[in-house]
Amino acid sequence: MRRILTVSLSLLLIGAGIWLFITKYNLNSGISKITYNLNPATPLSTPVISLESNNPGPCILIVGGIHGDEPAGVQACSELAENLIPPRGQLILIPAANPPALTAQKRFFPSDSDLNRAFGSEAAKGNTVGLRDALWSLLIARKVDWVIDLHEARGFYREGENTVGQTLIFSPAPETADLVMKILDGINRQLDSDLAFTYLSPPKSGSLVQEAYEQLDIPGLIVETSKEQELATRVAQHRLVVESIVEAILKE
Ligand SMILES: [Zn+2]
Repeated sequence: MRRILTVSLSLLLIGAGIWLFITKYNLNSGISKITYNLNPATPLSTPVISLESNNPGPCILIVGGIHGDEPAGVQACSELAENLIPPRGQLILIPAANPPALTAQKRFFPSDSDLNRAFGSEAAKGNTVGLRDALWSLLIARKVDWVIDLHEARGFYREGENTVGQTLIFSPAPETADLVMKILDGINRQLDSDLAFTYLSPPKSGSLVQEAYEQLDIPGLIVETSKEQELATRVAQHRLVVESIVEAILKE
């Protein structure tokens, strides 16, 4: 009876409508892999992969595909879900956060409402409302400690155009600035100098990362690769940045 009550309470806490189908299996090295869907049984349904260590520690959320014309973050996040092993804490990966826009291969679809300006905003329209609310509920229900959001931009920030390609855009929490300074040199040592990342702050109002910080005090950053590069190169760069972040935060 107690077990039934515990399970029921857990499901209620996560929120009605979020979990439809949950699979859980144990990887070696004390890691559980749990998969379920956000917005199940709707056109907005999308997988969530949760990698949970037996050792307690911070929870990092990694999101790809908020914009439907940015496939590198989606692919990188999917690959990371198969390969990352948290030494402690939890990794939650959502590779394809905006299914309608990804299917259409458009930044926003079908509404003209940008999901990455919809957080903390009444301006969202259509499907964007459901997508935004599901992500926001997950941040709270899963007690996320860090948010990493994978994006792509045209051009290169260093060329002085109005673009953010090859940047890490961090919310103005002291621990986020410290994290970026800690990982940036190591990342850039593995890239040609003309492809090096630099940093910016803060993210735009209404973005997942900025509003998570403003409203929930959750630090985080946006990774922006440049679409001037091959897809495989951008995917590799997203993976490199996320792996560097995970190592810096979770390695004991
Ligand atoms: Zn984007």
